[in-house]
Amino acid sequence: MEINFCSCCGAPVEEKIPMDDDHMRSVCTQCSHVHYENPKMVVGCIPVFKDRILMCKRNIEPRKGKWTLPAGYLENKESVQDGAVRETLEETRAHVRIIDPYRLFNIVIMDQIYLMFRAEMEDEVFGPTSESTEVRLFKEVDIPWDEIAFEVIRQTLVDFFQDRKQGAYSFRIKDFKQVQTRIL
Ligand SMILES: [Zn+2]
Repeated sequence: MEINFCSCCGAPVEEKIPMDDDHMRSVCTQCSHVHYENPKMVVGCIPVFKDRILMCKRNIEPRKGKWTLPAGYLENKESVQDGAVRETLEETRAHVRIIDPYRLFNIVIMDQIYLMFRAEMEDEVFGPTSESTEVRLFKEVDIPWDEIAFEVIRQTLVDFFQDRKQGAYSFRIKDFKQVQTRIL
């Protein structure tokens, strides 16, 4: 996101490399405040209930009408686990227990990091929300592979079902080179 005015004093900013720095920054022309910008963290999970996984159909652009796993931006003062649980509740009304971190995607081209957990649903309660027109438990054979909203979600699911067949899940970091549509 481009910054035009200083968040401290409201004066215009200029793009420059501050002393002892090596990145271009938005620096205030009046009070010299440096506006650092850092990657955004997206947290989410694969909610599992018995042999099925919970997915939601997006009610918001981009990719409205496509299926995804619950995920969203981490809030300040929130742990990554709490963020994943909260996003799941907001998007699917399901309460989940986090099991383990599962996939981390470095999407450096978009200044985004995705962290997806494996999670267990506490019960079979779920339903549509303002963010999801439909929420459903899917068996692997029923996953709508052609209707998945984001490539990182598709990759997470492909890996998950592969690992499940082996009976062993391991955490992995993947570098994601492709541009993908921002989730919000
Ligand atoms: Zn300023």
